Amino acid sequence: MEITQKKYQAKAQNTTEDVVSGFTRKVANYTQWGAAVIVAPLAIVQGVAGHWLMTAWLAAFCVYSLSLALISRHQNLKQRQLLAFVSMLALAASYSTFINGINGFVWSFPVMASIVFLLRRKWAVVSAFTFFVLMVIAAVVAMPLDIAWRGSLSLAAVLVLTLTLLFLLETMQRSFTRLATTDTLTGVYNRKSLNSRLDQVLALYKRNQQPVSVVICDIDWFKPINDKYGHLQGDRLLVQAAKLIRQSVRLSDSVYRVGGEEFLILMPETDAGGAAKAAEQLRLRFAENEFKLKGASPKMTLSAGVAQLRTGEHWTDWLERADKRLYQAKESGRNQVVND
Ligand code: GH3
Ligand code: MG
Ligand code: MG
Repeated sequence: MEITQKKYQAKAQNTTEDVVSGFTRKVANYTQWGAAVIVAPLAIVQGVAGHWLMTAWLAAFCVYSLSLALISRHQNLKQRQLLAFVSMLALAASYSTFINGINGFVWSFPVMASIVFLLRRKWAVVSAFTFFVLMVIAAVVAMPLDIAWRGSLSLAAVLVLTLTLLFLLETMQRSFTRLATTDTLTGVYNRKSLNSRLDQVLALYKRNQQPVSVVICDIDWFKPINDKYGHLQGDRLLVQAAKLIRQSVRLSDSVYRVGGEEFLILMPETDAGGAAKAAEQLRLRFAENEFKLKGASPKMTLSAGVAQLRTGEHWTDWLERADKRLYQAKESGRNQVVND
């Protein structure tokens, strides 16, 4: 049997979400330190120019920015904290444009970039457009018209470019996540993504004690099938087998390819009895199915082992029990389901 306890003990890899969220936090942290350092001398300059309201606003911003920088060293900031951060910047840039004209307007570009990259997508889009409108009004009111429209167009270009980059990054993140977590041949989840999923399942079980079961299935005599039809045709059979398994289980169940011709089905909110019933239905459907190859419709069967998670048990032991039952199913003649 391919599944052994050792096989599942590899440390769960960081997901792309973890990587992206860690990166975003770092960017936020640098932005807050940087903003405080850049804005502090501006507060002094505005004070010297006699703009006391602006000075007070910028000084308050520096303090807030530094406090966020200290917090975001260790934890992700809440969306409202980031929203407050960029709102203070946006108000400073627009108010400064009202009183200082182009000297204030030039700060709208870094502020626009901060809005788009620090906030979550929905907030980023809404805030970026609101800020743009605010800056155009300030520019038209406070600057000569020829500079105002050039500045506004330039800011519009920054808005479009940064939003495009944001969407591109999000699309890339999604496809990297899919690539990293799914099996390239069959499209079901891969073994690597199982580990982190099982950690979550265990944590959830500790909280709500809802039954959860696994079914480990292995196609019977797949090696002879492979030998008969060839490895490429074998691959086509595996794709069809994975599809059939996927279609035979509930939408809330998830299917993982954990070995060459071995699949694991995770069944949340299902006790061992329910899981065994589902596995039996799958076994029947699988045995009846006519798989399709060029010029042949081979039949295949599968054997399965079922186990429900026990209180206090680590998932390696849980899978080990399911694996033992699969072994029994094989030993007692294959094409059957054995419940733990
Ligand atoms: P049983 O499980 O019933 O004991 O017999 P089996 O012949 O299925 O078991 P075994 O584990 O000995 O062989 C599994 C075979 O699956 C070995 C290999 O030829 C085939 N296999 C594994 N991975 C792939 C793959 O990605 N593509 C193809 N085509 N075949 C694979
Ligand atoms: Mg097999
Ligand atoms: Mg096998």
